[in-house]
Amino acid sequence: MACCFEVVFALPSPLVEIPKNMAKVGLDRAKSAEAERLVSAGRADDDDAFELKLRPTRLAEFIGQEKAKEQLAIALEAAKNRGEALDHVLLFGPPGLGKTTLATIIANELGVGFQQTSGPALQIQGDLTAILTNLRERQVLFLDEIHRLQHVLEEKLYTALEDYKLDIMIGTGPSARTHVMEIKPFTFVGATTRPGMLSSPLRGRFGILLRLEFYTDDELRFVVERSAEVMGVPIDRDGAAEIAMRSRGTPRIANRLLRRVRDYAQVRAQGVIDRPTAQAALAMLEVDAHGFDELDRRLLRTIIEKYDGGPVGLNTLAAALAEEQDALEEVYEPFLIQIGFLDRTPRGRVATRLAYEHLGIEMPRRTSLF
Ligand code: ADP
Repeated sequence: MACCFEVVFALPSPLVEIPKNMAKVGLDRAKSAEAERLVSAGRADDDDAFELKLRPTRLAEFIGQEKAKEQLAIALEAAKNRGEALDHVLLFGPPGLGKTTLATIIANELGVGFQQTSGPALQIQGDLTAILTNLRERQVLFLDEIHRLQHVLEEKLYTALEDYKLDIMIGTGPSARTHVMEIKPFTFVGATTRPGMLSSPLRGRFGILLRLEFYTDDELRFVVERSAEVMGVPIDRDGAAEIAMRSRGTPRIANRLLRRVRDYAQVRAQGVIDRPTAQAALAMLEVDAHGFDELDRRLLRTIIEKYDGGPVGLNTLAAALAEEQDALEEVYEPFLIQIGFLDRTPRGRVATRLAYEHLGIEMPRRTSLF
C-alpha cells in the first residue's frame, strides 16, 4: 500500500483528513517561504487543523462561486439519479479559493468515500497502482497540484480515467507481460492553480471543468461571519466587512486574518470584533486597506522604481525580489492583476496607474503607453 494517503469516509463525519506529510511534501522551498506571509493564499503549516474546522461540508454551505456550484449541483443530481459515478472533475483557480473544500463536498454530497493525495506526493508507479486498485465503487479520488504529477504517472492515469482499466507489468526482462486490470468506477477530482500546464490528453479526460474565481467583498464577509460563528467569536457586520475587504478575494486569507484579529480583540477589546477593533488589529499586522503587505508593496515599487514601471520579465523581477518565479506567478500576481494594479503583457509585467496612485508615486507619461 502507498504511504502517502488515507481513506476517509465522507459521511457521516464531515471531517476529511489531510495526510500528515502532505503539507510538507507539496511545499517546495519557495512555497514555504511564501507560506509565512499573513496574506498568502498558499496553505501555511499551521492552517491545516484550523481550516478543517471551518471547512463547509455541503454545497449549500459553500459561499459564492455560483456558476461552479450550479454546474456541479446539476451534475451531482444527475449522477445520483443514474446511480453512476460522477464524471471526473477538474477544479482550477488560485490557491485558497476552495478547491479542496469542493472536492470533499463532492464526496459528501454523493455519500461516498474520499481519498486525497497530490502530484508531488506521488513519486512511484506502485503508489498510484495501489491507490487505483484499492478504490471503492464510485468513490472520490482527489489529486491536488495535478500539474506537478510526473509524466509517466499521468500516462498511467489515462486508461484508468477513460475505461476504469489499468495496465500493469508482471515480471521483468523478456518474460515481462502486460496485464489489464479492472478498477472500480470512481470519480477523479483534480485541482490545479496552473491549468495551462496540463497536457491536452489529461485535460480531455475531465467531463466537468470548474473555474474558481476570486470572491467579492460581500461573499467574503459571509465567509468571515460564518467562520466567526463556528469559532464562537462575537463579530458585527462592519468588523466582518473590514476583514473581508483586506482578504484579497480569498477565503483562506479571510479565515487567517479573522484568527489574528480575534486574538487582538481578546486582549484589547473584550473579545468583540467591530470595525475599529478590526482596523487597529490589521494596522498592527501591517495589512493595508487592499490586503497588501510589505511584499506586494515591494513588488510594485520594484517595477516602478527599478524598471520605470515595466515591462519587466518575470525572471528579472523574481531575481530583483529574491523570490521564486513560481511563487510570483501563482500566488502574488493573480490578485494584483485581478484588482488592476499589475498587467501581464507579452513583454513583461507592467505597473498600472492604480499601483502608482496606491504608492503615492507620480506616473510618468511614457509609462502609460504600455
Ligand atoms: P484550495 O484547495 O483552493 O487552496 P481550500 O479548499 O483549502 O482552498 O480552502 C481554504 C479554506 O477556505 C478552507 O478551510 C475553507 O474553510 C475556506 N473556504 C474556501 N472556500 C470557501 C467557501 N466558498 N465558503 C466558505 N469557506 C470557504
